[in-house]
Amino acid sequence: MRIGIDLGGTTIKAGIVDSSGGILQQSFTSTRVADGFEAIVDDIVMLVKEILDKAALSISDIESIGIGIPGITDYSTGKVIYCTNLAWENVPLADRLKERLGVSVSIENDATVAALAESLFGSTKGVQNSVFLTLGTGIGGGIIINGRIFSGSHGAGAEIGHMIVGENFYNCNCGKNGCLETFASATAIKRYAAHLVSGTKEATMLLELCENDTDKLEAKHVFNAAKAGDKLAMEIVDRMVKYLSIGIVNIYNLLDPDMIAIGGGVSKAGDFLLEKIKNKVKELVFNCNITYGDIVIAQLENEAGIVGAAFL
Ligand SMILES: [Zn+2]
Repeated sequence: MRIGIDLGGTTIKAGIVDSSGGILQQSFTSTRVADGFEAIVDDIVMLVKEILDKAALSISDIESIGIGIPGITDYSTGKVIYCTNLAWENVPLADRLKERLGVSVSIENDATVAALAESLFGSTKGVQNSVFLTLGTGIGGGIIINGRIFSGSHGAGAEIGHMIVGENFYNCNCGKNGCLETFASATAIKRYAAHLVSGTKEATMLLELCENDTDKLEAKHVFNAAKAGDKLAMEIVDRMVKYLSIGIVNIYNLLDPDMIAIGGGVSKAGDFLLEKIKNKVKELVFNCNITYGDIVIAQLENEAGIVGAAFL
């Protein structure tokens, strides 16, 4: 048995995972970001002890512990190189936990962890080469090549959210302009919708859905209005689809994977979104009589963080 930990900016989740990817026992606590590194290490140790107690197991029953982190990690040294959400730079997370718990600990980027979970137990199971994109507040990416994680020479590979795909009317959190996540994340959809709705006199049901307050607009309002045929909402979705498809075509041209899976909150738009992406990608892709890998919706949702981390 293994333990997987999903260390997020707001919640830490830990679970005991069996060899078929089932979660036997889990628990969570809020992330005490303001209290710093040692407080978070204490809370992880506490969670591990708690789930072991609940399952009537001891640490010697655990083969290894894996942790997914929303930042850049160095798998070989076990250090978190950079994580904005936790305000960490160069912290020896894996070593500190190994000292405290006496079991091997590995760390990886959280989207990469989810990519691994999808490839072992979810939407991309059974193929050797796959790419996973999570469309949420930002965009995370994970790459699996020959059945193994690929995160580059410095742990900074698969940062697909910061792939530059155009020029945008605002800058990315990373300080650059044109990153994919400023066009195709949930935040990007909200932001462009607010920008468009406040600058138009055209009738749109989006105004009703946000009760005339564009700050309240959500990505799901945009998809619901677009599904109902609202012209402005369709324009917002089409723009998002265009840039996401440019990103996907770049992935095809670089890696030619067997499959690309899309997860995160935005993927809940389902087949409506998927069909549009597939059509746009077909239009943009370099055509050399190759049938490129299929684009699918991810399957594992919330448990991907724990399950993927357990299998690092
Ligand atoms: Zn960026």
